Amino acid sequence: MNKFKRGWFPVLTGLLFAVTSAIAIAASSSEQAEQTEEKKPTQVLFTNVNIFDGFAGTLQDGMSVLVEDNFIKEVGKSITAPDAIVVDGEGRTMMPGLIDMHQHVMLNPPEGTASYQTRWDDAAGGAFAHHHLMNNMLLKGITTVRDIAGDPLDVAKAIDMGQLPGPRIYSAGGAISQTGGHGDWAGRNVPPEILGNHIDMSQRTQNTWVVDGPDEVTKAVRLNFRRGAAFIKVMGGGGVASEFDPLEIMGLAADEVARAVEIAADNGTYVATHAYHDKSYNRLLDLGVRSFEHGFLVTEPTVERMAAMGQEVVWSFQCFMSVNTFGDYDAMPGFFTHEQKVKGVAVGKGARNAAMLMNKHNVFTIGGSDMFGLPFVAQIKEDITCNVDAGYTPAQALKHWTGNAGIVLKWSGPKDPYPTYELGTIKEGAYADLLLWDGNPLEDIKLILDEDKLRFIMKDGLVYKNTIVEGDHPYFRPAKAPLTRGQYPL
Ligand SMILES: [Zn+2]
Repeated sequence: MNKFKRGWFPVLTGLLFAVTSAIAIAASSSEQAEQTEEKKPTQVLFTNVNIFDGFAGTLQDGMSVLVEDNFIKEVGKSITAPDAIVVDGEGRTMMPGLIDMHQHVMLNPPEGTASYQTRWDDAAGGAFAHHHLMNNMLLKGITTVRDIAGDPLDVAKAIDMGQLPGPRIYSAGGAISQTGGHGDWAGRNVPPEILGNHIDMSQRTQNTWVVDGPDEVTKAVRLNFRRGAAFIKVMGGGGVASEFDPLEIMGLAADEVARAVEIAADNGTYVATHAYHDKSYNRLLDLGVRSFEHGFLVTEPTVERMAAMGQEVVWSFQCFMSVNTFGDYDAMPGFFTHEQKVKGVAVGKGARNAAMLMNKHNVFTIGGSDMFGLPFVAQIKEDITCNVDAGYTPAQALKHWTGNAGIVLKWSGPKDPYPTYELGTIKEGAYADLLLWDGNPLEDIKLILDEDKLRFIMKDGLVYKNTIVEGDHPYFRPAKAPLTRGQYPL
């Protein structure tokens, strides 16, 4: 059975879980693959855990969870598994691994989206990306990232192959933007040509595409899918972190968006959009876009329209960057211009209002931080606690980052790189991505910011943090045993 589906990775399929040492993964050979085939599945039984399942408003107390290889085989009050390694949860809270539904891992060099023009090459971009994927995402409990502009597809490939540790990545590939739009990061005098001579380094790195007309959209969307994109991101309106586009403008023209939606649908997947106001939201709703980022200037009739569409569409809430950062001129990143900061203040004002309306009308909602570049990438989980500051309950905030996120990831259909099991939930038939916490985040959401309270991180059946179980069983590397050179995590 194919456990991983990225088209570029057929050979090592199914091998990853069984090899508990990353060193062994790196040294994998066809001979080893044969041995692995015969190996009995590894089982881990968690006992005495209180479960947040990704959806419910209360914990299920005193539960057991049986993990086999890389998936959850059983959840129940008492489970018999005589061959399993047992982890006594001692009444801790278990929840699904967190899912950041709005990341830009390739945009982490210090100068943000402009970085690649003059100061860094894409090799440095990948190094920054992997550092933050590991240290500020996976090791803080974020086991899946939806990357929604930028092209980390080969970093994702290396992670899937076990060559690098890191979270799962669902990538949109390069964002689709018009000339002068939110994805046009070239200098003012640099012609942002597509598919020809890529003078614009942002396009050369495939982090964004500057396209005009349905035919150029077609080419860019298909190039993304060719590289393994799971969905498509279009720039449907003006933005904060870009130079040429006031917030009020429309982004791609209707026929350009329609073409992106058509090709995404032909590939069985969906389109997500960057947009802020009623006019762009309604045009994009008309055209079949499904994932709506930002939206901080929308009014109640638009929110009601989205609510009536149920889980056909989703609102993706970037709380921290709007409420905490964009609300305050002086708190915005130093590399922003004055005009960018003024735009940010307008967004900040609208964000609390938008969250209040979306919550009031029960719009299907996910959370995504949009927090990249230092210092923000080091404090991503404050986007979750910010949801509570904006009026949601802790259970709702966590649902945005787990259960609801897992539903939207599956909208990628045949382009889903992890198609075998569910994500964002603790139930039979979900990937074994799970966290154990001291305390109950449904009572005190802020405890998720305390890394010492995060005692156990499992992603895809492999342990990346363990401060609970003593012992030198190889399964618990990396664990309490002192780390040595070459062991994960570094
Ligand atoms: Zn973004």
